[in-house]
Amino acid sequence: MSTDIDTLLRSPKAYQWARKAIDAMETHKAWPTALNFELWLHYVAAKDSDVAAEINTVIESGEHFTDQVGANIAAHHLPAAKLSGEILNAGKNLTKELNSVSRAIESARETSEIYGQQLATASESLDAQGNAAVRTMVENLSNATRKVHAENQALESQLADTTDELGRLREHLEQVRRDAMTDALTMLANRKAFDESLEQACADSDRTGEVVTLAVVDIDHFKTFNDTWGHQTGDQVLRYVASVIGRIGGEGARLSARYGGEEFAVIFPGERREVAMAALEAVREEISSRTLKRRSTNEDLGAITISTGIAERRRGDPPAAVIEAADGALYAAKRSGRNRTMLAETGSESRAA
Ligand code: C2E
Repeated sequence: MSTDIDTLLRSPKAYQWARKAIDAMETHKAWPTALNFELWLHYVAAKDSDVAAEINTVIESGEHFTDQVGANIAAHHLPAAKLSGEILNAGKNLTKELNSVSRAIESARETSEIYGQQLATASESLDAQGNAAVRTMVENLSNATRKVHAENQALESQLADTTDELGRLREHLEQVRRDAMTDALTMLANRKAFDESLEQACADSDRTGEVVTLAVVDIDHFKTFNDTWGHQTGDQVLRYVASVIGRIGGEGARLSARYGGEEFAVIFPGERREVAMAALEAVREEISSRTLKRRSTNEDLGAITISTGIAERRRGDPPAAVIEAADGALYAAKRSGRNRTMLAETGSESRAA
């Protein structure tokens, strides 16, 4: 957080600013995430800041303020987010530099080796001709070359160690980034990853003309289940449903995500709604046909069911529109008795599988 905002949050009017930021988020339909809070504080309290200017541009364009939009603004204008991107880039550039220095040293080592061999051959031939003074000179040159060669080798191995260490650091950083995109309970992609992927899929679809289909899944009566069997068993049910949904999401360019509490989503880039319907129907049948057990007591939990809404995105529509359409179909599925998969019509009606 920049110093100005930090100071502001410790000033007598701190709570007023915080409330204003929350109101602004609500007005502009931005989720009250920690990152958005920081951005919208700039918007209300630092009106001439770059962040406020960017938010104004988004508002004026009528674009929805998604987490991805927020993340982009943060990456460019908030010091911490900017820094983490810059560290990654610096790491990549450093690896490139190290690799090129490594190649230069390797080539110098090869040259000195060849030179050393030539000197040794010359020394042998002078030996045969009995020219002692020149032979001593060549031997000295030969010794010096051997020394340079040994030093080059040491330098090369040192560089290889440094490059390895840098590789490990980058892997670690990438793991941290992967963790930040994963839901820890179900190990599916999390909401942030979902938002980013959907935005990307929509942008790709506008470029290539390929379709994007979205499925939104909700576990039926999950709250009652949780209240009856406790949160631990509830969490295991979430993991079970996630494991079945994750299997279909693992195919091709698809992405399965935990969208919210007991809600999941699958993005089908380049696939029509009939394909998504068949995949989700298979998931629904598999889940509803299995009897779960309470692990601690072995009690029968019965079967659980899911309801799903599916929508195909209309080209040019913002990501929010396809979410809304799939959500509409999901609620239609709930209203029609649950344990079913419904398609959003291109209009507003929905029909069951
Ligand atoms: P988990 O308990 O970590 O189990 C991981 C996987 O190990 C399961 O994947 C399943 O392939 C296998 N497994 C574990 N315990 C058993 C078992 O008693 N019998 C059989 N046949 N296989 C077992 P799966 O089925 O996809 O489940 C994923 C997660 O969903 C499980 O993770 C657990 O958290 C939850 N889950 C699945 N079935 C049940 C159930 O009957 N009761 C409860 N409470 N949770 C379940």
